[in-house]
This record gives sequence, C-alpha cells and structure tokens, in this order.
Amino acid sequence: MSDLLSAAWTTTLLRLLAVLAAGLALGFLIGQPWPGLALAALAALLWHAWILRGVLLRLEARQRSAATSRRGVWGALASLLDRGHAETRARRRRLLGLLRAYRTAAATLPDAILVVERNSQRLLWFNEAATRLLGLHYPHDRDVPLAKALAPLPMARWLAGGRNAETLRDVPSPVDPALRLDLRLLPYSDDLWLLLVHDVSRLLHLEHMRRDFVANVSHELRTPLTVIHGYLELLDGQESAESAPLLAEMRRQSERMTRLVEDLLTLSRLEGNEEPPDQRVPMPPLLAHLAGEAEALSAGRHRIRVEDTADLDLRGAARDLHSAFSNLLSNAVRYTPAGGEITLRFARGAHGGAALSVCDTGPGIPPEHLPRLTERFYRVSTSRSRDTGGTGLGLAIVKHVLGQHGARLVIDSTPGTGSVFSCCFPAERTLARAAASATSEAGP
Ligand code: ADP
Repeated sequence: MSDLLSAAWTTTLLRLLAVLAAGLALGFLIGQPWPGLALAALAALLWHAWILRGVLLRLEARQRSAATSRRGVWGALASLLDRGHAETRARRRRLLGLLRAYRTAAATLPDAILVVERNSQRLLWFNEAATRLLGLHYPHDRDVPLAKALAPLPMARWLAGGRNAETLRDVPSPVDPALRLDLRLLPYSDDLWLLLVHDVSRLLHLEHMRRDFVANVSHELRTPLTVIHGYLELLDGQESAESAPLLAEMRRQSERMTRLVEDLLTLSRLEGNEEPPDQRVPMPPLLAHLAGEAEALSAGRHRIRVEDTADLDLRGAARDLHSAFSNLLSNAVRYTPAGGEITLRFARGAHGGAALSVCDTGPGIPPEHLPRLTERFYRVSTSRSRDTGGTGLGLAIVKHVLGQHGARLVIDSTPGTGSVFSCCFPAERTLARAAASATSEAGP
C-alpha cells in the first residue's frame, strides 16, 4: 500500500474513532453511554453511505468526482478514479491520432484500398485512389454492395471464392478501360475483407513492349538466316577437305540459330494468346505422330514406347499441345544416352483429369535445379544443352502452353535413374474419346 493510502486509512480510522468516542462521551453525560455509542456509529455509517451514493452517481454520469478535496479514503478513492479517467482519455486521444494517421496514409496510397463487410459484402470505407481507379464516390457508394458498386467487373463470382479467391489479374477499370488493374482480396478479420487494387497499366505496357521487341527482332533475323542457309546449301558438296569442317560448323550454328528464332517466335505468340482455341485434340493420332518424330530424332538409338490407357481426348489448341509434348520428347531423346528407353504415356489422372507423361532413363536432374527448370535459358549444363542442339526455351514453351490450358507440369527426376515430365490436365480439358478419333489424323 502506498504512503498516500496508508495516510488516508489512518485519517479515516482516527475520525471514526473520534466520532465514536464523542458519542460515548455524550452518552455518559446523559447517563446512556451505549445508546450514545450506537447513535454515533449509525451517524458515521449513514455519512459513508451518503458519500458512496454521490461517488456512484458521478461514476454513472461519467463526471469528475467532487470528493477529491476530501481527506481520508474517499478523497483517495476519488483521486484514483480521476487518474484512471485521465489515463483512459489520453489513451483514447492517442488511438484517435493513430487512426487518423493510418487513414491519412491509406488515403494517400497510389493503390485503391476498400474495406468490405464480409457477410453483406457492402463497402464500408475506401481511399481516394478508389475514386481515380474505380470511380467510387463518397457518400454515394458507401454501404453499397461491392458487386453493384463495381458492376462491370466480375465481382460476384470472384467474391464467392472468399478467402481462397485468387488475385484477379489485368481487368479493365470501370472508369477507363485503358487502365488495367490487379485486384487482391485479403480477409483480415472474421467480419472484414480488404480489397487491394493495383494499377498495372504501366507494367503491362512495358511487358507488351518487351514482347513486341523480342518478336520483331526474331522476325527480322529470319530473312538473313534464310539467306545464309541458302548459300550454305549452294556450297553443299563443293567444299574442300579444309573447308568441310568449317562449313559443317556453320551449318550447325545457323540451324541452332533458326531453332532459337523459331522458339522465340513461338513464345511471343503464346504470350499474346489469352485463351487457347477450344477444339478437340484427338489423342491416338497425336501420340502416333509424336512417337514418329521421336523415332526420327533418335535414329534408332533408343527404344521408344507409347502407352495409351486414358481413352480420352484433350480440349485446346492442337498446334500448341503438339509443340509442348514434342519439346518434352525431344528433350528425352537428346538427354538420354544411346540404348536408353523412352515412354510416352497418356493415362487418366486425379479428379477426372488426364496426364501425358514422358519418361526416360536418362541422366536425371538434381533436385536443386527443378524449381528453375522452366525459366527461359535455364540449363542444368549449358555445354550439354548446346551439344544436343538445345535452345534453352523448350520447357518455357511447355509451361506456357500448359498454363493456357489450365494444366500443370510435374517433374519427377532421380539423378542417375531418369526423369518423368508429366503434363496434368484438369477434367474440364478432357473429352470422352470419339470413335472417329482413333482413325482420324492429328493436325498439329
Ligand atoms: P534445352 O533446349 O537446353 O533442352 P529446355 O528448356 O528444354 O532447354 O530444358 C532446360 C534444361 O532442363 C535442359 O538444359 C536440361 O539441362 C534439363 N532437361 C530437360 N529435359 C531433360 C531430361 N529429359 N533429362 C535431363 N535433363 C533435362
């Protein structure tokens, strides 16, 4: 107990004793000491009850206590209560200041921030950037359901995903379709969602410029390469003993460059495609065609097998799917030493989907390389890739094609044993095999 409280208790007890003693003394004077004491105790009790009533009334009315001037325990209680009040008020002021600072910071952010009530999906608050990017206005759009406030955007379907809603990418702004936006939903409490809207127009513009640049350069390189090829073909058979190795190397390098240019053009074309065409891709002729290509590339150095147990066809772009599968097979042939085995397997996968796998008995890939394998020009061994005529773009093309078809590339590889590259397609990309597809020709 503090000194202040000890002193207050002493004062109060001394006063009580003085009142009781005065009552007893008066009682003695009139010959009734015990009733005198009892009356004094009753008076002291009533006085304390009266003061307690006053304290309670002021607490209820949230007023400062009037008893601070009193001495004793009531004075001490009043000053403790006042101190508590003062601290609460200071804390509230500090929190309000912080809240204002947060709001000002949020209001000046270049990204739009919207606070949405989870159950009703109504807009509770939004910053100034929401006006510029989404055309929302105070107070008109406050408390309006989000799907209505941002009507041209596919909000209702997206919000249905709730906590699992993926970032909505590259959507046109309702204010200006030239503004491209990324929308992210962050459920930050049980009742509230935060919607972050980021302007990606500049990024997309730069991305388009990069894509166009690569496509244009690749296109421009085609003509000189064709001319070089033409001259090299003219020289075919006319080379002398000294120039023969030089010309052979020139041919190899110009063919490598042609493949590089073709792969770059394929990637640019794929990046430009939003959705692949929705055509049936009959699998039996495609598998046969791929196996034929692999046989030609292998030139009898490998045993090539086809296993087709899926009894399904795929839905998508035949040309792109052929390009992806053919890249996987070409890798298997190029990296598997002579005498190895390559299996092209098409089987049913999980949840009604299908998987096309290319299995080889090649050198395998150490696990640390697997996460980066589909990056452009990423190679486990650059010299080996070049020796086998690789461009470093094959798996990047595969990843792009699969991404457009909602499919995934799964790589399972054991160094020294071999690799399995599986293209896993979801159920919506498969079709029950049509009877005719077994006989019709694939048209990749
Ligand atoms: P590249 O044209 O160099 O083959 P890819 O993008 O097709 O480029 O493949 C990237 C790298 O992945 C290759 O350089 C190679 O190191 C590795 N790789 C791809 N397929 C296989 C495979 N079947 N066996 C072993 N390594 C492979």
